[in-house]
Amino acid sequence: MPYTYDSDNIFAKILRGEIPNSTVYETEHTLAFKDIQPAAPVHVLIIPKGPYVSYDHFAAEASDAEIVDFTRAVNEVCKITGVKMDDGNGFRAIANTGHDGVQDVPHFHLHILGGRRLGRMIQPAS
Ligand code: AMP
Repeated sequence: MPYTYDSDNIFAKILRGEIPNSTVYETEHTLAFKDIQPAAPVHVLIIPKGPYVSYDHFAAEASDAEIVDFTRAVNEVCKITGVKMDDGNGFRAIANTGHDGVQDVPHFHLHILGGRRLGRMIQPAS
């Protein structure tokens, strides 16, 4: 089934400036902003500005420039928030994807979580 992007999603509205956000970092292709319901002292969402539903959609169809820009933005956000491995205590990056990944907002976003020791991500299957 082809990827179908819904331009009514809340992150598309943020990108169009229709609803506010707390921007942490922005480039030509990428926006990073604070999660509205933080699950850790550091909780930033990094999104491409292009219309990609999920990480696999982005990885398959984004341009090299978008992918490089996004990846470098991860480093900048980690630097700004003080969670880098060379200058802090680390972080967790999560990309919830689709039904099984329990993705709520259908615009690709990478969660950057840190600022405290996080618990185990998931329990082992028994
Ligand atoms: P996910 O389940 O991975 O799709 O996560 C979506 C995330 O978006 C959740 O952590 C929400 O708290 C966050 N979120 C939803 N609306 C907003 C908003 N307007 N500004 C910032 N974060 C938001």
